[in-house]
Amino acid sequence: MNTQAKQRQIYDVLIIGGGPAGLTAGIYAARAGFKALMIRGASTVSQITATDIIENYPGIVGGISGFELIENFIKQARQFGLEISDSDVTGIAPAPPGDISGWEITTEGNTYRTLSLIVATGTNWRRLGVFGEESFIGKGVSFCATCDGPFYRNQEVAVVGGGDTAIQEALFLTNFARKVTIIHRRDRLRATAILRDRALKNAKIEFLWDSVVQEIQGEQTVSRLLVRNLKTGSVSELPVEGVFIFVGLNPNTWLLKGIIDLDQSGYILTDQEMKTTAQGIFAAGDCIKKSLRQVITACGDGATAAFSAQHYVEALKGETY
Ligand code: NAP
Repeated sequence: MNTQAKQRQIYDVLIIGGGPAGLTAGIYAARAGFKALMIRGASTVSQITATDIIENYPGIVGGISGFELIENFIKQARQFGLEISDSDVTGIAPAPPGDISGWEITTEGNTYRTLSLIVATGTNWRRLGVFGEESFIGKGVSFCATCDGPFYRNQEVAVVGGGDTAIQEALFLTNFARKVTIIHRRDRLRATAILRDRALKNAKIEFLWDSVVQEIQGEQTVSRLLVRNLKTGSVSELPVEGVFIFVGLNPNTWLLKGIIDLDQSGYILTDQEMKTTAQGIFAAGDCIKKSLRQVITACGDGATAAFSAQHYVEALKGETY
């Protein structure tokens, strides 16, 4: 490759992740005239696309599905010239000595060089780690009510967890299932009051408090759960055709280990400008350590990260004014 062709491969801003944070960063970077590429997973999609309705995104009265919102973001980002690649990132490393770019990003089929990097890789669903959980995935165990809820019309299902996701998805499942049993390890919900009240008032929802799933059982598909009451120690059988597991999130940050500082749970540490501990690497969205994980906060992070990356690149090029 000649030098000129090599130069063209260097991006100003490369973004990893195609959720609200990554796409917002892409919109801001591309609109500001930077050569920007967003790499989103080849097989994984943003978790928000699995949300049937987002009611608290300002300006959208009546709500919007996660899928539609992301489609709108993509349309808008492409209009400003953001390049988008569907591939899994397999490596992040400093550019070779003497190379003017800061970071080298490797995917299955390509290597990219970039002056700045924005990590917006989000999170993945945490597992319970009980017998039957892995073997019944797609056969009664699910992590997505929007995807799998309609399969359970007039059937009985369980939801595990007491956070916003569990309660929102349990409410969604009442559109299909005859009965939804929420199994929660404590006697009070973590979810916000509006969701909590809706669930407590919903005639199709029952609660098993202070309880955990000990085992998921069935023949070809799930037919029952063994549920243990943490206060009494007693174990009972709950007959269900499906179990939806929403017990929190794990950050998708394993590629960053040893490159930037992460907290004990693997969330990326950033400052207010979304700078990480490595020069030229910024981070945004659910994968960073923060108190509120919402579409609106992910978008805010993405915009800030793009703005900081922009200043960093301008300084590198000697174009700061
Ligand atoms: P979360 O808030 O971390 O809640 C996880 C739930 O699972 C908690 O109730 C927790 O119990 C329970 N849990 C954790 N590990 C468990 C285990 N091993 N066995 C049984 N139960 C277990 O996670 P999330 O609900 O997925 O929400 C993630 C983030 O997205 C939050 O910031 C949330 O606010 C946000 N979100 C917002 C909305 C919305 O605004 N509409 C919707 C969805 C998500 P404890 O309560 O006892 O810890």
